[in-house]
Amino acid sequence: QIDEAEVVAFSVPSYACLRRTTLDNHNPVLTDALSLLAENAELSDEDGRGVAFRRAAAVLKALPEPVTGVTQLRGLPCLGGHSLRVIRDILENGASSEVEFTKQSERFKALKVLTDIFGVGAKTAERWIRDGIHSLHQLQESGQTLNRAQQAGLEHYDDLKQPVTKAEADAIGEIVEEAVVSVLPGAQITLIGGFRRGKLTGHDVDFLITHPEEGREVGLMPKVVSWLESQGFLLYQKTTRNSYLEAKDGPARPASNMDRFERCFSIFKLADAEKRGTKQTENTPEDTCRLAAHSQVTDEGPKPASGHRRWRAVRVDLVVSPISQFAFALLGWTGSKLFERELRRWAGHEKAMSLSSHALYDNKQGRYLKATSEEEIFTYLGLEYIPPSERNA
Ligand code: ATP
Ligand code: MN
Ligand code: MN
Repeated sequence: QIDEAEVVAFSVPSYACLRRTTLDNHNPVLTDALSLLAENAELSDEDGRGVAFRRAAAVLKALPEPVTGVTQLRGLPCLGGHSLRVIRDILENGASSEVEFTKQSERFKALKVLTDIFGVGAKTAERWIRDGIHSLHQLQESGQTLNRAQQAGLEHYDDLKQPVTKAEADAIGEIVEEAVVSVLPGAQITLIGGFRRGKLTGHDVDFLITHPEEGREVGLMPKVVSWLESQGFLLYQKTTRNSYLEAKDGPARPASNMDRFERCFSIFKLADAEKRGTKQTENTPEDTCRLAAHSQVTDEGPKPASGHRRWRAVRVDLVVSPISQFAFALLGWTGSKLFERELRRWAGHEKAMSLSSHALYDNKQGRYLKATSEEEIFTYLGLEYIPPSERNA
């Protein structure tokens, strides 16, 4: 029996953007459980429930020590009855029956396997499951038509499931840097996403590209992509054009986390470490030929990785921003996704401002607020500056 007076009670602000959340999570068992339920909700088209579980998990991530009893959680924000039940189950019984049930369920397992394919979202997975497709093998046998992204995703499934290391992210950074300065001297690249927050691994590598002279970045992405393609670095790419100009007259759209930058979703072909010199980044034509032949999909599906392969596939996202929007793009693309969502909610609900990855609009003053650094944006929002390493909500 624990004496209640000795129980540590925690206190955290309800907006994640008011908290400092490092990668040093003291409650991984609880946050993994809540994240799994969040994922299940998101995959089941229940976004509201998904966000609720994400918020609950984020509150636990911000605690300074492990939770030992539910009494410690009294007064904490974002912990609804459902989340509290899951937490109590784990603290008292060592596991949550709901989480265990979900993990084992055929539906969840199928949704996971199918949406783990690059290019496959919850809706597509749902449709396939209704057609009786629960596995990669069944998908390959089904004769379903796959789009180009999904074909690439299936072909490189095993590689893309392997977490990307920081060393691999840095190696890709060197390649992207070479591409960018080759096609536009003076252009700059910045590592964004999880790696900027200090994560040691990621599901992809994200880069933001800009040029210090406004306007010089126009048309940059297709040139970068062509350069990368000509050097044999791309296994797949899809570039979408900048569509922000069309919306320039309206305020930044707070509720939507879709942005309008010129961006490229790609799959890189990254040579193994021992094949990457410090400066050497090119694939020799001979390599490309041998490797391309090796990665071909046969009727039986992707060939198993063999000892001879000297490269792996890595997901890479590239975004181009004009320098005038750079600070907003940097803030918007560094994440975490929940931290971003909370920043926008804070801006809208508490400050009557609309924040996007392009701009900050003050609804009361009826004007855009210019910023050249993330610090300035936090100041406009009346927030203490939170560095990237503490945005891991
Ligand atoms: P991981 O290690 O899993 O890659 P991550 O935090 O880097 O973690 P990403 O999915 O790569 O996750 O997203 C990086 C950032 O880019 C996030 O902050 C997210 O808000 C932003 N982002 C991702 N997709 C979009 C999009 N379509 N529009 C706007 N922002 C996006
Ligand atoms: Mn990422
Ligand atoms: Mn990404």
